[in-house]
Amino acid sequence: MAEHILELRNVTKTFGDFVAVDSVDFALQAGEIHAILGENGAGKSTLMNLIYGLYQPSAGRIYVTDREGWRRRLRAKSPRDAIAIGIGMVHQHFMLVENLTVAENIALSLGQSRPVTASDASENGTYKKWLRKFRFKREDAIRITEELSEQFGLAVDPSALVRTLSVGLKQRVEILKALAVDARILILDEPTAVLSPQEVEGFFTILRKLQADSRAIIFISHKMKEVLSISDRITVLRRGKKVYLGPTGELTARELAREMIGEDIEEVERSSDGNSEHKSSDSVLYLSNLTVLGSRNEVAVSDVSLETYRGEIVGIAGVDGNGQRELAEAIMGLRHRESGTISILGTDPKGTKAVRQRGVGYISEDRQTTGVIASFSVTENLLLNVTHLENTARWNVLNQKRKRNTAEQLIADYDIRPPIGGIPAAALSGGNQQKIVLAREISLHPDLLIAVNPTRGLDVNAARYVHENLLVQRAGKKSVLLISTELDEVLLLSDRLFVMSRGKLIEATAQRNDIETLGLLMTGEGL
Ligand code: ADP
Ligand code: MG
Repeated sequence: MAEHILELRNVTKTFGDFVAVDSVDFALQAGEIHAILGENGAGKSTLMNLIYGLYQPSAGRIYVTDREGWRRRLRAKSPRDAIAIGIGMVHQHFMLVENLTVAENIALSLGQSRPVTASDASENGTYKKWLRKFRFKREDAIRITEELSEQFGLAVDPSALVRTLSVGLKQRVEILKALAVDARILILDEPTAVLSPQEVEGFFTILRKLQADSRAIIFISHKMKEVLSISDRITVLRRGKKVYLGPTGELTARELAREMIGEDIEEVERSSDGNSEHKSSDSVLYLSNLTVLGSRNEVAVSDVSLETYRGEIVGIAGVDGNGQRELAEAIMGLRHRESGTISILGTDPKGTKAVRQRGVGYISEDRQTTGVIASFSVTENLLLNVTHLENTARWNVLNQKRKRNTAEQLIADYDIRPPIGGIPAAALSGGNQQKIVLAREISLHPDLLIAVNPTRGLDVNAARYVHENLLVQRAGKKSVLLISTELDEVLLLSDRLFVMSRGKLIEATAQRNDIETLGLLMTGEGL
């Protein structure tokens, strides 16, 4: 039998009365890639947070083989204990200091792995001072970063400010952080959720390199295809319980899906009515020669023209970082436009509040910073929109009961779990936070809905639900602008298809059946 370097026995974690992880057994072998599959809220992140010392088990035990090869009971009181014993974790939500450089973030992670008290950070006020305290020379931090980058093929500019990086690059920095402290067990919580299909293959190459370097990897995902292609073994969690463990290939994708959700899944049906029936001559969004600058003053959106109509979904496919985000932000009045025209139902509303009042819903790419307010309750988040508040104001803004009822209805309709309006949004899994955004933005049936990667990080069922909702918008003669890195999703839903590459928008409706050409367009080769 292969050696277990990490073993969980009967581990349970409760939050109040809620059992998030229920008597789970789990074992990790040296050098394996072990996938954990489970739909949103299954308890995957909670289980990992227990291993990483962010939470302590309510019951059960965790054993780990330490760096010297001794098997020990792990009683991690904080991530520092877990890191010391060789466990690294890349969270679903990145834990980077945005205003520091890549190298400085790596240096911080090295610093944190030493015995440092929390007050070190606060007494000195700033991270910069904290860094100086470790006497990390800039050159050293840069050198360490470069060496690690080289060794694992994780190319990244050590001097770049983290906040200027794309999500894919931020993830690399997180992995580098774990490698910098020599993690032998790497926990990757939904790492591919933030990657485009093209980036996933490169990422898998990195995982295989890490594996060849005899590191054990826990790979969390709900994407069947990925799990089947990269893992050695699979554990499935459903509602906090381990329901399956076996070698990859033992079960088919469909069988695994059934383990995950307890029933068979169906694909969303898009009525094959062609483009003409729903498409009307009613223009909703009109962009003409729009140019928008990005955060580094580079041209992010370059001379884009586009018109959307009622009753259609216009899809924009593209690899992350090609101007999609800036385009959406410019339409939403969140980003200054350099030149060109934006018109929404014939007017040019100034500022995001005015844009929303004009009837625009926005499912943003980054739900953590623009989607939900983590410290606000689920109910408050659901009722956050200016427009939404005005809607409820028709009855009576001060009528708390009405508001609660509205929120409760949305929680039920969108199956937000746990179904408790009073808890902070921060306590919900990423997928459930996404459902809050969807419920809030879609329930108002905006004339124009801008959805940026609306199913990123969602499981199959939740993703299908989102797709159905976008189609409901379309059937209701609303206009939907779907911007997504998931080509499958854009192909499935769009009436008209565009590809965005290096800031340019290219219509590709005619090429929709030619995946190869689309791929070339997306990488900018087809131009
Ligand atoms: P997954 O990662 O599989 O999507 P999570 O582990 O994030 O699921 O969450 C499992 C369940 O536990 C969810 O219903 C979630 O809302 C709940 N949960 C997670 N963390 C907390 C917390 N700190 N307080 C209360 N409930 C929580
Ligand atoms: Mg999770």
